[in-house]
Amino acid sequence: MATSPPADANALEENPLLGPLLAAGEPIRFDRISKDHIAPAIGALIGCARAAVDQVAASTAAPTYDSTLGELERATEHLERAALVCEHLESAATSPELRAVWNETQPKITAFWSELPLQATLYARLKRFASTEEAKQLDPLRRRHLDKTLDEFKRHGAELSTEGKKQLTEIDVELSQTATKFSQNVLDATNAFELIVEDEAQVAGLPEHARNAARDSAAAKGKAGYRFTLHAPSLIPAITHLDDRSLREQLWRASNERASSGNLDNRALIKRILELRGAKAKLLGFTDFADFVTCDRMAKSGAKAMQFIEQLRVRTEVAFQREKEALCAFAGRELAAWDVGYYAEKQRKALFDFDEEALRPYFALESVLHGAFEIFRRLYGVEFVSRALPTWHPSVRPYHLLDTNGGRTIATVYLDLFPRDNKVQGAWMGPLATAVPPGAHVAVVAANFTPPMGDLPALLSHREVETLFHELGHLMHQCLSNVAVRRLGGTSVAWDFVELPSQIMENWTWEREAVELFAKHHVTGERLPSALFDKLRTVRNYRAASIQMQQLGYATVDLDLHCRYDLQEDPVERARRTLAPHVTAELPSSFAMIASFGHLFGSATGYAAGYYSYKWAEVLDADAFGRFRDEGLFNPEVGAAFREFVLSRGDSEDPGELYRRFRGRDPEPDALFVRMGLA
Ligand SMILES: [Zn+2]
Repeated sequence: MATSPPADANALEENPLLGPLLAAGEPIRFDRISKDHIAPAIGALIGCARAAVDQVAASTAAPTYDSTLGELERATEHLERAALVCEHLESAATSPELRAVWNETQPKITAFWSELPLQATLYARLKRFASTEEAKQLDPLRRRHLDKTLDEFKRHGAELSTEGKKQLTEIDVELSQTATKFSQNVLDATNAFELIVEDEAQVAGLPEHARNAARDSAAAKGKAGYRFTLHAPSLIPAITHLDDRSLREQLWRASNERASSGNLDNRALIKRILELRGAKAKLLGFTDFADFVTCDRMAKSGAKAMQFIEQLRVRTEVAFQREKEALCAFAGRELAAWDVGYYAEKQRKALFDFDEEALRPYFALESVLHGAFEIFRRLYGVEFVSRALPTWHPSVRPYHLLDTNGGRTIATVYLDLFPRDNKVQGAWMGPLATAVPPGAHVAVVAANFTPPMGDLPALLSHREVETLFHELGHLMHQCLSNVAVRRLGGTSVAWDFVELPSQIMENWTWEREAVELFAKHHVTGERLPSALFDKLRTVRNYRAASIQMQQLGYATVDLDLHCRYDLQEDPVERARRTLAPHVTAELPSSFAMIASFGHLFGSATGYAAGYYSYKWAEVLDADAFGRFRDEGLFNPEVGAAFREFVLSRGDSEDPGELYRRFRGRDPEPDALFVRMGLA
């Protein structure tokens, strides 16, 4: 009788996350991957990667690029791919069992990556390589790879003494615990609030869907009447539409005073987080946390980011005051903070009487996709060709992305566009494999668009069309990457640069010449009427200065707290004072919005000292698009230049330099103001 191989070995052999099944160039066998494959595959891959890294560190031979950085790239590639595939399945096709396995497995991957920079022998080996003749003569790409790797090790404390390393670890641990506690308090404070209104007359003004939702929410709690909470889908329609001013006030106050008193008070935690971040920056040789965060981004320093925001603020001020006065005049009264959204909505209706839903019949998904593919073909010389490949759900569409010049397959791409219960909300582009030439990338675009209903095809809103173009822009950045070092390829670029390739694509959904390629009535085939499209464009800029001013206000609060703040002061009070000139109505003294500002304090870093990048990216995309607007929306030469200098380069060069090569100069904010109708 033949003895069968041990069960484990057998399982590993057949594991589709391992071996040739996940090898470069082969389609990923989504049809065979199950939750049972995850833990054994990741365990085995971490083991292999760790052994290979240890070998690099322990080697006594003369170090070369290939035996150090080259080997690290190879040692971690398979682990990286498998982790991306698992992470993707957890986002797009999860189950309670898969989630449980992933929650156990993911921290092991995180631990593997965060241990790397702390390995003194490995760092010593890299530094030894850096001092060789070969290192001094590296080509610019490999030089950047070396510099960035050494920098990353330093940012994780590789240069610190044993005592310093210990301090840094303590700071990081406390920072992450404090931020977690901050988030939990926000969540608990959000859930602790409810407002029940029994009298139907009091919910006058509320649109029907919001009224029904409020009634269902009360019924679900076994109560009569209408229930409002601080969760956005309940809160936002209520503050925007309720005619009852005192209800709006109660809700507005509850939302903006959240987690600022009682046993869920975040004030002390904010102070501690700011203190820890400051201490971390100082320990690593930076003046403050803003400099630590921005030094490897386009902004380069906290002061430069602040200057950027200030410059926009000055240019927005006049229009902002004008909009403020117009809204007060329209309301016929002094506005309190809880009146702004309410009267703004009324003013918008009075000015435009525009129903965005009227556009949907012109945006059937099939024709929008067709138009988008055509635009990418003209601009970047790529073609989407539908392919039969294994996927994680029957509605997912797989494609090969071909280079029209030569027909080479650049990438395998999956579009997963409709909502499901086992899929995360929102829209995103996720790389599944970043390839070095001549290999092919693998990537997915996921979204939760309006699905087909009954006999109707999927009819998108303009916002959904814009989102599709945005994510396809990220997809181009990932798939057109042509960088010989994997770590520097794809979309792993500076945080304030990464939204350029995506946001720029949104512009094509606002230009008639482009929209005419795909906006056709799904039944009659009739073109989108000009009057409707013009209205859409006009409404876009309604209160543009006020909205921009508020964003600039948040960015200023963020940068101010991370570079100018003195720990003696109450950060909540300081943030209120900083924000005050940026909002339409006076803020009451109890205003404590930062006590629930998860972007800034909900994780160890998150958007801290990075909130400015929303506006930064808008300036870049509007300015870069200016070249297309001036030289032709479908000008293949401009498209080729954008592909050559931005999309194909990943993080292989300084993003400021890449931008200058495309645009011929530094970014200027004029185009943004023109687009907003504020020039
Ligand atoms: Zn994006």
